[in-house]
Amino acid sequence: MKKLYLLSLGCTKNLVDTEVMLGRLQEMELTERVEEADVIIVNTCGFIEAAKRESIQQILELHQQRKEESLLVVAGCLSERYKEELQRELPEVDLFTGVGDYARIDELIAKRESRFSPEVYLIHQEERRITGSTYHAYIKLSEGCNQRCSFCAIPSFKGRLRSRPLSLVVQEVQRLVDQGFRDFTFISQDSSSYLRDHGEREGLIKLIEAVEAIDGVESGRILYLYPATTSFDLIDRIAASPIFANYFDIPLQHICDSMLQRMRRGLDASRTLELLERMEAIPDRFIRTAFIIGHPGEGWREFQELVEFIKSFPFDRITLFGYSPEEGTSAFAMEDQVPPSTIEERLQELQPIVDQKHRASLEALVGRELIAYLDGVSQESELLLSGRDWRWAPQIDGEILINESALNHLVPGERYKVFIDEVVGEQLLGHITARP
Ligand code: SF4
Repeated sequence: MKKLYLLSLGCTKNLVDTEVMLGRLQEMELTERVEEADVIIVNTCGFIEAAKRESIQQILELHQQRKEESLLVVAGCLSERYKEELQRELPEVDLFTGVGDYARIDELIAKRESRFSPEVYLIHQEERRITGSTYHAYIKLSEGCNQRCSFCAIPSFKGRLRSRPLSLVVQEVQRLVDQGFRDFTFISQDSSSYLRDHGEREGLIKLIEAVEAIDGVESGRILYLYPATTSFDLIDRIAASPIFANYFDIPLQHICDSMLQRMRRGLDASRTLELLERMEAIPDRFIRTAFIIGHPGEGWREFQELVEFIKSFPFDRITLFGYSPEEGTSAFAMEDQVPPSTIEERLQELQPIVDQKHRASLEALVGRELIAYLDGVSQESELLLSGRDWRWAPQIDGEILINESALNHLVPGERYKVFIDEVVGEQLLGHITARP
């Protein structure tokens, strides 16, 4: 049996496409040893400079480690965005494809043929091989984006918004439930615009109603709400759902009116605050966001306004991005670029404030009994088990270290009541008390 080594870089949307490729290559045996692989696939990320650099570096490292007769395949966003340059400058690679041929990867490998199909691939009914969990799966809602944020190149290589028909999303969730999956994270570039290209203003509300009706779905959350298309009705519907966590992932990018306008975010600070206040009032809510630091036009005053805002609002998780000049974006041509050294200084000023927010969010859970998924033995120590607050998204929101249990025969993938004893570094420490 041929051996396959697969590296999925970038975001969870890329991971879903990687899982589609895995589904097409079921006859191959997955290996974690590059040197023994017959086929090596790198699903690249081409979003910002740092991600592009990482993709190139990984490709070259894998080439160094691989056996001579193996096939090195490069797919994904970086390959799509720089197809000509990469084919010219990376002779190490045997086969290139972009974001249009994931469901044909087996054919391309068999023919040893590079291909860049013009239409961006959007998962239809393909069988995926889910990675990383036996009970949780990501569900892609759409591809592409109709927004035109000044700093973002994604629409240039992922195209306009194309939503999956709700019936296909429901069928996929049902299929996965039949395979034992019961916790789902719904993703796209702009989730709150789901089905707007099908004439539906509140597509996510339709999604929530449909998923709640599927027997066997235990829990869910939605990532990537776009502020300007997020309504009070949606926020209230998420809060009312017995299945969907009060989880609000809403990348704000900035708070200053002039910056939101420059970034073409389609809303102002007062509307942003209205949305946040609505979310903040919901019991057991979890609010995650992201900010871009050093976008052209961000002077000292605009930056300080952002610093004060971040200090003042109880976010649970915040990701900071230093502005990355991306050719083809409107911000790339803007005059008042911020020097990289200034961007770095601002990131260093903000990071301790962000760390403090995370800490406060964790400390608020000490002394409480949470419902958590058990993920098995922790990577921290074989003496500890690893859990995840059911509200949290996998991998990005944290870990609960479990050092004791009132129960025997614990089953990974099941939910348990966990009493939180303390915060240890960036993790929680607790003990299992009972079943939910
Ligand atoms: S919403 Fe904005 S940042 Fe997100 S993918 Fe679309 S254009 Fe890019």
